[in-house]
Amino acid sequence: MNTVHDNLITIKNEIHKIALDCDRDPNTIELIAVSKTKPVTLIAQAIEAGQLSFGENYVQEGVEKIAYFKQNMPDTPITWHFIGPLQSNKSRLVAENFDWMHTIDRFKIAQRLDAQRPANMDKLNVLIQVNISNEESKSGVQADEVVDLIDQIITLPNLRLRGLMAIPEIENDFAKQLEVFKRMSELLASLKTDYPFLDTLSMGMSGDMPAAIVAGSTMVRIGSAIFGARQYV
Ligand SMILES: *Cc1c(COP(=O)(O)O)cnc(C)c1O
Repeated sequence: MNTVHDNLITIKNEIHKIALDCDRDPNTIELIAVSKTKPVTLIAQAIEAGQLSFGENYVQEGVEKIAYFKQNMPDTPITWHFIGPLQSNKSRLVAENFDWMHTIDRFKIAQRLDAQRPANMDKLNVLIQVNISNEESKSGVQADEVVDLIDQIITLPNLRLRGLMAIPEIENDFAKQLEVFKRMSELLASLKTDYPFLDTLSMGMSGDMPAAIVAGSTMVRIGSAIFGARQYV
């Protein structure tokens, strides 16, 4: 038993309880443990506690960790999610190492990932990042640009478009968090008419997970509540 183990149990219980309280099936919400800046020893503790999905923000750091676990725990089926901003000159490392890419915000990146995805790997699962709070500083496409990007991405044979992702402006009030997350779930619901294969909404972090689940998130990305506060972001 250790802190990571206990934190994971606490978070999973919380996800379970929030889901039941809002009439959702807890199994439709996947927990991504965000391990950015955290050492492989803590990731190993999470794996020991049964956690197999991890999110990383920095390409080089993520690739090193993936290589470490491939070497040291080759039989453990870990799923790696890239959740950070991606410069196009680093796209190959994502294409060759990760299972999911959450932050597609332009066709050029999607094209590169498609071209660089090795033939012997499964398709790369991708999400379109939506700038749902309309902040100048944050990345992501505007809601009204999503359809055009979908139509481009679905032409790419080595990517599997799964849905949408958002990192809303930090907001402490539950009702305000909920309002923003609901815009995301309404957007996904409206897209499903023409694109019924879209099944994923990646939203919710340590500070706003309950509102994200109530609004319909299917993937919560939780870092500090599992691994503790980070030294740098
Ligand atoms: C760091 C990060 C998280 C996790 O944040 P916490 O507040 O530590 O839970 C989730 N998503 C993204 C995109 C992040 O960069």
